[in-house]
Amino acid sequence: MDQHKCRACGESAGALVLDLGDQPACDYFPRQGDPGPDPVYPLQMWLCSSCGLAQLLADPTIPEEPKAVEPAALVAQAADAVERVAAAGLLPAGHVVAEYGSPHGGSWLSLLAERGLAPASPGESVDVIVDCFGMMHAADQHAALAERTARVRPGGVLLLQYHSLNTIINSGQWNALRHGHYAYYSTSALTEMLAMHGFTPRTAWQFDLYGGTVLLAASRDSDSRPVADGTVPAILAEEARTGVRDPETIRSLQRDTHAHAKRVHDWLVEQRSAGRSVLGYGAASRAVALLLQARVDGSLLPAIVDASPAKQGLRMPGADIPIVGTEELTARRPDAVLLFVPDLLPEVRKAFPEVEAAGARWVDVEAHGSAGLQ
Ligand SMILES: [Zn+2]
Repeated sequence: MDQHKCRACGESAGALVLDLGDQPACDYFPRQGDPGPDPVYPLQMWLCSSCGLAQLLADPTIPEEPKAVEPAALVAQAADAVERVAAAGLLPAGHVVAEYGSPHGGSWLSLLAERGLAPASPGESVDVIVDCFGMMHAADQHAALAERTARVRPGGVLLLQYHSLNTIINSGQWNALRHGHYAYYSTSALTEMLAMHGFTPRTAWQFDLYGGTVLLAASRDSDSRPVADGTVPAILAEEARTGVRDPETIRSLQRDTHAHAKRVHDWLVEQRSAGRSVLGYGAASRAVALLLQARVDGSLLPAIVDASPAKQGLRMPGADIPIVGTEELTARRPDAVLLFVPDLLPEVRKAFPEVEAAGARWVDVEAHGSAGLQ
C-alpha cells in the first residue's frame, strides 16, 4: 500500500489512532432478504503529525446513503446559529452567499434569504461562504478548502461548522468514525489548514448539537475584522488541555469502543434473558459500526425503526436486522426502545407518546445510568 499523505497538508508523518477493523460501507443498506455477505472495508483514523488533522486513512467506498429525515435538533440549531452569526454583524442584508451543504441535508439558505442575503450563482465570488458539515465529506481536504477560500471576496467571511474532535474524544464518540467522513476537525488543525490558504479564524460559537459542535468564522489574514475576540483562543486552550493533537490521547477512543460495545451487548443479552423485548430507533450510519462491534444480531435486536421512507424494506449492513416503519413502535409493543441518535430524544418522545404510555422506555445507547444502559 502506498504511504498515506495527509488530506490537508500532504505530509506523510502521522499515526494510526483508531482502528475499527473491516466494516461494511455504512452508506450501503442492503434490501431485506439480501443474504450478504456485505462487502467490508478497513475503517481507520489517522492523525497527521504536521497539521494535526484527524482523518480517514483509506476509503474505497462510494457514499450512497438514502437521505435521512432531518432531525428537528439540526433545524433548530441552524436557526440559532444564523441568529448568533447575524448578531455579530456578519450577515448583512444584500450580501451574496454560497453554501456548501452536507449530503445528509440541512441548509441555511432559506434562513439567510429571510435576512435579505442573496444566493450566489455557481462559481461566483461571495461575501459569505457557509459550510455546515459539508467539507468533512471531501476526500481532498486541501482542494476543498482552496475552493471555498478562493470564492471569498476581500472583506468576506468563511463560516465552517463541524462536530469537534475535542467532543469526540471527551465524549468517547468513537463511532463518529465512518466511511465517507474524511476529516474530524479540531479547531487547532483547522486553524493550520486555514493558514495554508491565507485565512485566520476570527471568532467561534459552540453548540450542544452532537455533544459539541463548533462554528468558526474565518477571513483573510489581510482583513482586519472588528469581531476578533477571545473565543478562538479559549477553544484552542481547551483543546490543548484535552490533547487533540496527541495520538495517545485519541487512542483512548479504541478503549471506549470496546467498553461501549460490551455495554450494549451485555445489556441486550440481559433484556433477552429477562424476556423483555427491545426495538432499535434510528438506522443511522453510526449505528452500523456499533452493532458490529457489539456483535448484535437479529436475535438480540429484532428490528430498527426509522422514520425515513427511503430506508423501509432495507436491513442494517453486516447484520440481519431489518429496518421498519414507525408504526412498529406500537404494533410490537416493545419494553424498551434503544435510541441510536441521542439528539432525537426530545422529538421522538414528543412524536410517539404511545411508547411511554404503554410502559416502555427510551434508552439512549450513548448514555450511562438511568437515562441509558444500566
Ligand atoms: Zn496534515
